[in-house]
Amino acid sequence: MSTMRNDVPRVAADEFASKVRTLSSLLEVATVGSVAGGDPHPNDLDLAIIISNTGEIATIAKYARQMSRHYHGWDVFLFDYDLSLIGTICHRRECPGRSVDCYDPGCGKPPHVRVNPEFEYDEKMFLISPIDVLYTSFETSRLLARKDELGIVESRSYPVLEDIPMECVRCGETFVFTGSEQKWYLKRGLSQPKRCPDCIAREYEG
Ligand SMILES: [Zn+2]
Ligand SMILES: [Zn+2]
Repeated sequence: MSTMRNDVPRVAADEFASKVRTLSSLLEVATVGSVAGGDPHPNDLDLAIIISNTGEIATIAKYARQMSRHYHGWDVFLFDYDLSLIGTICHRRECPGRSVDCYDPGCGKPPHVRVNPEFEYDEKMFLISPIDVLYTSFETSRLLARKDELGIVESRSYPVLEDIPMECVRCGETFVFTGSEQKWYLKRGLSQPKRCPDCIAREYEG
């Protein structure tokens, strides 16, 4: 039963890889994180792709959106040849556009790419996740080579993360930092939230 949950994002990832690998700018594609590691309850599907130039991003974004037929919880992290993070692929067909996603000032520059100014990319945190290379144009995977270079030993065990009750620094209300949120924050190398979801939402609205 549990493996079936992992199969859905896996199918989406394989289909995406088989399409993007035909593009000339595509150098490598891999799944990163719980899907790669065989977590029976992956909370999202993260893919890393390395591109030689940004000329085919619109096509890459289209293929990424087609994953939503199988699975909505995808994120595609775009890297350049030097493994610098360019950004993530926006989920919207039109980007920059009028959808709420693209209100974010970092969305759509360049088109179809989100650059979150609050998101500090932590290479070690990112690469410590299990990585399954689906396609590479290099002799050996560039992502895995980088991981070796940094001496990163990955962990494929999945501890159960307990919900943590937190107190909002803004309004003083208690809120729950759930296990899957903790996973999401951890994977992105972010520190734990200080404000409750209501206060964060209010800030974005105001
Ligand atoms: Zn956008
Ligand atoms: Zn609050």
